[in-house]
Amino acid sequence: MRKRHWKNRKNRKCPDCSKVIYYTRKDSFDRAVGNNTVCKSCAQSDRKLAMDTIEKMKQPKTIEHKKKISYGVQKWWDDKRESEWLS
Ligand SMILES: [Zn+2]
Repeated sequence: MRKRHWKNRKNRKCPDCSKVIYYTRKDSFDRAVGNNTVCKSCAQSDRKLAMDTIEKMKQPKTIEHKKKISYGVQKWWDDKRESEWLS
């Protein structure tokens, strides 16, 4: 009975999150096993992570630099305001 149910289906676990991935085609199942592919959500988060890394590598200092500048300006205004109120 079980055998019959899985006759045209294959499934394997995602190597990343252990989620069971179902395959309806034997060739895609075989390819997935061969490539050790992860499930859809893991593949998506992997891609997102890669994109983030690429973005960071593209401009490693700019973002930090900008943050520091805006923080510095904000702090300057705060200090100025504070000293004005105090005096
Ligand atoms: Zn997964």
